Amino acid sequence: MTKVRRDRAILAAGGAALGIAALALLSGERKRPLRRPTQVEPGRSIGNLTLGALSLATVAMVEAPLTRPLTERAERKRQGLVQRLPLSAWARDALAVLLMDYTIYLWHVATHKAPFLWRFHLVHHIDLDLDTTTALRFHAADMAISAPFRAAQVAAIGVSRRALRIWQGWFFLSILFHHSNLRLPERFERLLARFVTTPRMHGIHHSAVQGETESNWSSGFAFWDHLHRTFRLDVPQEEIAIGVPAYRDPRALGVRRSLALPFGRERDAWSAPPLRKPASMQ
Ligand SMILES: [Zn+2]
Repeated sequence: MTKVRRDRAILAAGGAALGIAALALLSGERKRPLRRPTQVEPGRSIGNLTLGALSLATVAMVEAPLTRPLTERAERKRQGLVQRLPLSAWARDALAVLLMDYTIYLWHVATHKAPFLWRFHLVHHIDLDLDTTTALRFHAADMAISAPFRAAQVAAIGVSRRALRIWQGWFFLSILFHHSNLRLPERFERLLARFVTTPRMHGIHHSAVQGETESNWSSGFAFWDHLHRTFRLDVPQEEIAIGVPAYRDPRALGVRRSLALPFGRERDAWSAPPLRKPASMQ
């Protein structure tokens, strides 16, 4: 098999595996929901999937052409941090994946703390429920804005083509999983959360209580939250109201209003009183 054909076969197998994982999560979260949904379906899901399609198209058009030549250069010229280390190719790639995962943690904190970045990340956080479709609910401009950062990550770390593909697959799978509304046995999830970002962890990050949102920034491995002491698993999911206090109108979740949101007048996201789920919904 030629290298190109082998690469295509690996990509196709990876894509199929991700598709199967997505379907399994979509069906699992309906059978065993972690939090009770508050919105009428399918309107919300269709909006999220449409925003997701626009975001994926933006990644393909903006990010991929930026990162591809950088991965080739990292390999050819042995440029970037991991390429200079006296390690085997697999060890370099494993370290590159780990460093990509860590720098995404830092980027996620920045998207909340830097007002310009928050305007776009807010579109993801105003969803009033959290499930597998939220994993795709990003503003397309958010993807375009993060592309130069992704290019800087790839160049500085020295990410190879193989490492980038592994990281992309891992990152996408993790995002689908931790946004899902899948109820896992609590003791199992506590164990899992030592290593990877889980649905209960990310549910707390999507809480309408600011102090809770400012935790669990990890998007892949959970090590970074443990390392920075930003890990929390102490909020019962049935008490969490998902969303942002200043943006509670379900009509604002639609595609057109979501795309316009970052360009309008910004509200003080956390100024409204802290939200908890009304007793009737618990
Ligand atoms: Zn966030």
